[in-house]
Amino acid sequence: MQTTLDNSIIFSGIGLHSGRDVTLTLKPAPENHGILFKRKDIKIGNPLVRARWDYVSETTLCTKLKNEDGTAISTIEHLMAALAGCGITNVLIEIDSEEVPILDGSAAPFVKQILEVGLKKLSSSSRIIRITRPVIFENKSGWASLSPYDRPEMEYFIDFDDCVIGKQSKTLNMSNGSFVKELCSSRTFCSNKDVETMRENGLALGGNFTNAVVVDGEKVLSPGGMRYQDEAVRHKMLDAFGDLALAGAPILGKYEGHKAGHSITNSLLRKLFSRPDSYTVENCSEEVFDVLPGSGVDLAELTAVA
Ligand SMILES: [Zn+2]
Repeated sequence: MQTTLDNSIIFSGIGLHSGRDVTLTLKPAPENHGILFKRKDIKIGNPLVRARWDYVSETTLCTKLKNEDGTAISTIEHLMAALAGCGITNVLIEIDSEEVPILDGSAAPFVKQILEVGLKKLSSSSRIIRITRPVIFENKSGWASLSPYDRPEMEYFIDFDDCVIGKQSKTLNMSNGSFVKELCSSRTFCSNKDVETMRENGLALGGNFTNAVVVDGEKVLSPGGMRYQDEAVRHKMLDAFGDLALAGAPILGKYEGHKAGHSITNSLLRKLFSRPDSYTVENCSEEVFDVLPGSGVDLAELTAVA
């Protein structure tokens, strides 16, 4: 079944990169509406931007969408992950600035309010994208792949210079509310040595120790330390899950990411959709619905929300 929210939800906060105050409202939407952003502050040109892989225009440190009139929405990945992780297929996202608020750096504040408001079932059936042949995208930084699998599964590997992060890997069955239990509370992170360079490039202007985990060698500079010993790899999985949500429907298959960022995951989707023999789009049966990331989510299993 397709779903939407039972009521509107308002979020206010600061944009991680822009440093601007922003208000974002999630509004219930009818069946077959999909996930659509609307820039309330845009008076000239089309203010609507579809949350889909082919609207991705930039992938430097976050995922940015742009429509044909140049209307953009950036840092969408944590919100997209929250929507996909809660199984929401239709929503209108109104926003009064270009960047989605970073909140605590994770997807948990979005998930918490979505689950508190609750979901509404719509009468049309939902669709899934079933991977039928492996697809891989690789560049000099890393690689990512999608392969046939009977449920949504993710596997990820990272390798960072700061030894408090270092090498981490994780495999996760994304069924049974795993996103809410295992991934959504993990926060974005960066190395202290990169902060100055990012700021010189007009990025991370809204970043601070409460909305990002800042690390320096063996130390975690943000108060309270890590939420999980492997919070970094969990967050990279959260990012990838949000970027994969731009496919337009849940993906039934296994995603593997090896030092894969936003750019590689988006390139993987572009490659997938250029190869019609690699996937099928199907109406979702009850059996498949039960293994999707949005099934079996439970607000009581959400922990570590700031
Ligand atoms: Zn992130």
